[in-house]
Amino acid sequence: MLTQHSHTSGDVGAFYNRHTDVYDDALGGNIHVGYWDDEADGSSMQVATDRLTDLVTERLAPAEGQHLLDVGCGHGSTAARIIAHHAVRITGVSVSDYQVELANRRPQPAELPGRATFQWADATQLPLPDQSFDGAYAIESLMHMKDKAAALGHIARVLRPGGRLVIAEHSLEGELAPPDADRMAEACRFFMVSLSPDRYGTLLREAGLEVVDYTDTTENVRRSYDSMTDGWRKAAHDLDGQEAREMETAAELGAWFFAFPQLRYGLLTAMRT
Ligand code: SAH
Repeated sequence: MLTQHSHTSGDVGAFYNRHTDVYDDALGGNIHVGYWDDEADGSSMQVATDRLTDLVTERLAPAEGQHLLDVGCGHGSTAARIIAHHAVRITGVSVSDYQVELANRRPQPAELPGRATFQWADATQLPLPDQSFDGAYAIESLMHMKDKAAALGHIARVLRPGGRLVIAEHSLEGELAPPDADRMAEACRFFMVSLSPDRYGTLLREAGLEVVDYTDTTENVRRSYDSMTDGWRKAAHDLDGQEAREMETAAELGAWFFAFPQLRYGLLTAMRT
């Protein structure tokens, strides 16, 4: 049945099949923003994007032997960093088959303390057993899901009581007036995102998750965006035809979107009650 939804998980997967290499290249091997302490912090993109992973991991505080769910696992770089430092088991899901293949191909030397496996799965219909995870994290993935209530419901269902969920992503604060509202709608359609207006407060409560902390890191992640825009411009230059035009549009819309004053980025920690 056709619905008015502008995208499905299939579209998001196809988007990431095309854009994963561009993000990886622009963001130092990760598919999420970097974190810089302050203006004086001269860390490279790789160090800064790995640091975001570390900030998420700190909030999960995983204990030895725990099982973690990586919701929207990308090409596995986040899980790879966590299992290199923690004796945990990670299951990652993504709707991009290309990402799942890259993630499963990543070497996992026997001496690593942890282990990770990756599978194609839609988080809004998560095919995983109840209470089978001690913690979960969703870095820049929930924002792609139209049915956030379904995704959070599934995440809550698979978490054990007391288990934590850490969400890292953008939100949009306040009402937008035209012409900003129209441009924002266009950007959100293109990047296949719908941003949470209230940092998931209501949806988390309804799913049985209690907010423990929210840290606004908007200013700390800002330096990532020029690199993204440059990455899309470079991709547009290297590609032809429709593919080149898509990258050019990403650069144009991205430059506007990421500079938008009401766009925030934060780390939210919630607990399964
Ligand atoms: N968390 C990763 C990747 C972020 S990119 C990282 O930080 O590097 C966004 C990710 O969300 C992609 O892996 C995409 O496949 C995933 N995603 C988007 N919608 C999804 C859905 N409905 N179910 C599962 N994963 C989804």
